[in-house]
Order: sequence, then C-alpha cells, then structure tokens
Amino acid sequence: MIKAIDFHCHLDLYPDFEKIIQKCEDDKIITLAVTTTPRAWKKNFELMNSCKFVRPALGLHPQLIKEFSGEIELLISLIPECKYIGEIGIDGSQPYRDSMVLQKTIFNRILDESRKNGGRIFSIHSRNAASDVLDCIENNLEAGKFVLHWFSGTKREVERAITLGCWFSVGPAMLDTKKGLELAKLIPKEKLLTETDGPFAMLKKESLKPGEVKFAEEIIGGMWKKNRIETLNILIENLNSLLK
Ligand code: MN
Repeated sequence: MIKAIDFHCHLDLYPDFEKIIQKCEDDKIITLAVTTTPRAWKKNFELMNSCKFVRPALGLHPQLIKEFSGEIELLISLIPECKYIGEIGIDGSQPYRDSMVLQKTIFNRILDESRKNGGRIFSIHSRNAASDVLDCIENNLEAGKFVLHWFSGTKREVERAITLGCWFSVGPAMLDTKKGLELAKLIPKEKLLTETDGPFAMLKKESLKPGEVKFAEEIIGGMWKKNRIETLNILIENLNSLLK
C-alpha cells in the first residue's frame, strides 16, 4: 500500500543517500529519484534496481548544460535502459539565458531519441521558459508522457500545457505561494501528482525531506474538498494512469 507520492526528488543529493533510499522503501513512498547529470545514472540505477517504491530517472539538469553538455551522448546511450527521464528541460532565468539555444537543442534531442525508443515518462523543469518547453513538447508529442515539475508559467501557459496532455507535479514550496496555489487550482484533478523537489525546495525555511508532501496533500485536499485518504487515493489513481 502506497503511503505518499514524491514524483520529483533528488535522492542522491542528500547525505546518507543509500539509507534514504531504504527509508523511502520502508515508508512506502513512491519516489521518482531524478538526477542532474547522466554520469549519476549508473549508481542510482544499481541502488534502486531491486526497489519497489523508488524509481531512478536519467537526467541532465538544464542549469548544468553549459558545463555538462559533453555528457549528452552518454545520456542518449542510456535511454534504452531507463523508463523515466528527469530532470531535463529548459531554464530561462538570467544565469542560464546564454545557454538557452543549447538547452533547447538538447531537450529536443532527448525527446526525439525517446520517441525512437517507444516513449518515456519525463519530469520537466521549465523555469522562466514555459513557452519554449511547451513548444518543444508540442513538436515531440510522441516522445512519451510529460510531467511538468513545479510549473510556474502564466495561466495561459497552464491551459496550453493541459491541452497538450501534460501532467503536473506540485509540492509544498509551490503551494505555499499565492501564485503556485492559483496555478494548481487550474490543473485538472486527474493530472496532478505530488513532489518535494528536495533537497532544493524549502518549506518554512527547512529543506524538504524525501516524501515530505503532507503539506501539499492537505492543500490539494482542501482544493478538492476531499479528506486525506480520498486525496491520496486520487493521487495514486493518477500515478497508475500515468504509468499504464
Ligand atoms: Mn529538481
């Protein structure tokens, strides 16, 4: 029985990485362990290979593309052995703007290769680049299923993402802001998942721990007028429909 869903968490960036994997397993938390460079894949995959609740994702974080673009061939070569890909996407905020063309090229390449491999499930970063990310998705709809993590676009961009069939993972840090909450209200109930984005994301000045989504579940439950168990059951149904 699943106790919570954390569909975007950087497990390998916590101290005691291996113990944390075991804790997610013991706590029965479905955890998508996103990675930031393709070189991190092997260890994540080996440690999670026998896990029931923790799943590894192959990634290349858009904020690291300038330094790690040389690892793109490694990422492409690993696509056949992975089911999930993240964290990938585009970041258009100031420090990363100068690599946006390269970010887009790489994002499109990953989507295209995934399509050739029969489709993958993606956890996608789109900070300050929502419309670019949605353009890439629109041009690669056969690449798989797209989960927009911590989406922070405009109302119109959310609507466009919904039309494109995207999913959304939202966490405590996002739902603790007025803008994040307003945005979450626009997401169809059947397309929503929870995440922490730990250890980067914070709630009440504390870095979120893996699976620490209770605050998000409560806000979502309030939004849907459902109790905690009903809310979790809907989130689990959503996960099942994403994975089928
Ligand atoms: Mn992240």
